[in-house]
Amino acid sequence: MTPQPHPEAGAAVKAADRAHVFHSWSAQELIDPLAVAGAEGSYFWDYDGRRYLDFSSGLVYTNIGYQHPKVVAAIQEQAAHLTTFAPAFAIEARSEAARLIAERTPGDLDKIFFTNGGADAVEHAVRMARLHTGRPKVLSAYRSYHGGTQQAVNVTGDPRRWASDTGAAGVVHFWAPFLYRSRFYAETEEQECARALEHLETTIAFEGPGTIAAIVLETIPGTAGIMVPPPGYLAGVREICDQHGIVFVLDEVMAGFGRTGEWFAADLSGVVPDLMTFAKGVNSGYVPLGGVAISGAIAETFARRPYPGGLTYSGHPLACAAAVATLRVMAEEGVVDHARRLGEDVVAPALHELAERHPSIGEVRGVGMFWALELVRNRETREPLVPYNATGEANAPMAAFGAAAKKHGLWPFINMNRTHVVPPCNVSEAELKEGLAALDAALLVADEYT
Ligand code: PMP
Repeated sequence: MTPQPHPEAGAAVKAADRAHVFHSWSAQELIDPLAVAGAEGSYFWDYDGRRYLDFSSGLVYTNIGYQHPKVVAAIQEQAAHLTTFAPAFAIEARSEAARLIAERTPGDLDKIFFTNGGADAVEHAVRMARLHTGRPKVLSAYRSYHGGTQQAVNVTGDPRRWASDTGAAGVVHFWAPFLYRSRFYAETEEQECARALEHLETTIAFEGPGTIAAIVLETIPGTAGIMVPPPGYLAGVREICDQHGIVFVLDEVMAGFGRTGEWFAADLSGVVPDLMTFAKGVNSGYVPLGGVAISGAIAETFARRPYPGGLTYSGHPLACAAAVATLRVMAEEGVVDHARRLGEDVVAPALHELAERHPSIGEVRGVGMFWALELVRNRETREPLVPYNATGEANAPMAAFGAAAKKHGLWPFINMNRTHVVPPCNVSEAELKEGLAALDAALLVADEYT
C-alpha cells in the first residue's frame, strides 16, 4: 500500500473534473477537489503520493474501510453471475441482503424496501407513513439532515434546507434535546429531556395530533453535530407517537450498521421505531444502497393494497451482494464490538484529554466511532468558533484547522464549527492513535482563534 506519485495523471484527472463534473453543495468555481489515486483500509492517497488517514469515512459510510477484499470479491462474483435484474423478481443477493438486514434490525422491522441511498429512503418512509395513517403532516427536528431530494430536504432541519424548501411539504420542525446549546434553559440532561418532550407534546397539540403522520428523527443526529439524546428521550417520543397514532421514523442512515458500537443506534436505548431508514454502512458504500425497514403493522397496510412507489434499481444485485458480504465481514471480524470497545477505551479518553489542553474545544460528545468536537472562541460564553452556517471568510478558522489536519496526514470531517471523529469502524488502535496525534497538532491552529 505504498502510493506511487503520478502527478501528470493527477493533473489530467483534475482537469477533466474541473471541466465537466458538477459537484454537490458547491459553488463550482470556488472549490478545489483533491484528485484521489487510490484507497485501502483507513487510508487514501493522492497522485503526488501523499497519504491521508480518513477520519471522515468518506461521508461517514466506509464503516469497514476501503477495498475490503471480501466485499470486492463478492461484487466481482455477482457481476460475473448476474450483474443486474429488475426489482419485481426474487434474486438471491436481494433476498439474502433483506434477510440479513431484517435479522439485525430491532423489533418487528422485518420487511425491507430497498432504495439507492438515504434521501430516497426518507422519501419513501414519509410516503409510507402518510399512506398508513391517512394524515398529511410530518414533524422533524431543526438540527437534522435527512437528504438532498425534495421531501428529504424539506424534512431536514439544518441550513441545507433553506434554498430548496418549498414550504408546502407539510413539514413542521421542532427542537430536539441538545443540552450544550439548550433551547429550554435546562441545566441537566434530565431537565433537557423532560422539557424537550414537553415541547414536542405542545407542538403536536397545536398542530393537531390527527393531522400528523410521522415524527422523523435521526436516532443520533449526525451531520448536525452528533448529539446523543439524553436517556429517556427516544422512549418518550415512542410513547407520544403511540398515544397519538403517529408513525415513529428513526433515520439510521449515518448512525446505523456499527457506527455507534451497536448494529443500530436505536439499540443503545432499546427503542423500536415503526420505520427505520438506512444506507451508507449497510455495504460500506461500495455500491449505492439504502432502504426502509418496515414494521409488521405498516407492512400489513400494503399487504392487499399496492404500495404506490418504486425504483428501477431497488435492491440492485451488485449493491445487495456488497451488503451481504459487508454484513458477513462485520460479523466475522467483530467490527461492531471493536467500534464500541475502541470508542470507550481509546477515543473517549483521548478526546477528553485533548479538551483539557485545547481551549478551542467547547464540548466532546459521541459514542462508538461517532464523535464530534464542538469548537468555540470562548468556553465560558460557548460562542462558536465560526458563526452558524459560516462560509468564505467567516469560516477561515475552520478552514485553517482543516488545512493543518491535512498537513499532518489526517482527513477530517468538518461541518460548521465542528470536527467529527468518524473513522472506519474497523480502524486499528494504532491508526486511531496516529489520527488523534494529528488532531492534537491541528487543534493548536484552532486554539489561535480563541
Ligand atoms: N439521513 C441521514 C441521517 C444522513 O446522514 C444522510 C446523508 N448524510 C442522508 C439521510 C441522505 O443520504 P444520501 O446522501 O445517501 O441520500
